Amino acid sequence: MSTHILQKSLVAVFFCLFAWGCQENPKDKEKVVKRERAVDLLKEEEKIVWMATTGMIADALENLGEKFSRVHTMMGPGIDPHLYKPTPADLSRLEEAHFFCHNGMNLEGKLGKILEDSWGYRRTYAIIAGLNYNDLIPASDFEGSHDPHIWFDLRLWSKAVDSLSQVLGNLYPRLYNEIQGNSQRYRSKLEVEHEWAVRLLGEIPKEKRVLVTAHDAFRYFGRAYDVEVKALQGISTVSEYGIRDVSDLVNFLVDNKIPAIFPETSISDKALKAVVEGCRKKGWEVKLGNTLYGDALGEKDSPEGTLIGAFRHNVISIYEALSGETYQEEQT
Ligand SMILES: [Zn+2]
Repeated sequence: MSTHILQKSLVAVFFCLFAWGCQENPKDKEKVVKRERAVDLLKEEEKIVWMATTGMIADALENLGEKFSRVHTMMGPGIDPHLYKPTPADLSRLEEAHFFCHNGMNLEGKLGKILEDSWGYRRTYAIIAGLNYNDLIPASDFEGSHDPHIWFDLRLWSKAVDSLSQVLGNLYPRLYNEIQGNSQRYRSKLEVEHEWAVRLLGEIPKEKRVLVTAHDAFRYFGRAYDVEVKALQGISTVSEYGIRDVSDLVNFLVDNKIPAIFPETSISDKALKAVVEGCRKKGWEVKLGNTLYGDALGEKDSPEGTLIGAFRHNVISIYEALSGETYQEEQT
């Protein structure tokens, strides 16, 4: 079968499954088997191709597969995963990939489930599956589900990365030790950043330690770093906010004299500007803080293109806006 025909048939399967209308096609199973053989037969000099939905997952995969893998990222800077629809270019890159990792718990809507059904469970993995249920925060918007925004609690992310490294190690036995070594190095860096954030954010007076953002992506962050969190929109951006949500938030900010609120790179800041204006009318000047990285990382070639870089940007921005102090780099 030519690549073109193969791609066209994958596109058909993909969009058909998106509409929830198709039963599993035995031919798709055949493709999965062929792909598994292709991995076994990889030559030493070739790189294994992995694919991630978000920049955060790509960051984990890049660290785990450092020298032997190439990682495609589906959703780049500024992309909202809750609303993302795959493109034909994604499908071509999927055809090249041997392993696909998504977040799970509806962060990317039905995308992960669709791929698991069309691609097979062995090649598709939800990083959140590596955590225990009691590590997760129940989702207020979706009954019976959990909040998917796990990455900015760096210790929790580290746990998820550990499980991911086991999955990959089992998938590529000859690379098992290398993957585990890479995992340990990455996880120690996460631990250093975690401890730094606990120290820095702990310096903000408790009554000012309130993080208000465009959507509810920081609840794990809040739990890990003892910061109260509040948002205009729920944990998914699929449901719209209303005038009532804006006025409730304005009242909260005015009553509690919160000095700043924070836009996010993957969401328009229009609504938060309306909140600032609402506070002004009530005689309270709330500052629009630096734009935070919520559901997407920064540009690939910038420090914020890594999870740690984006995390540092967020922590320093929150510290400076809420404490009124200028961050001084710690002396080591
Ligand atoms: Zn989100």
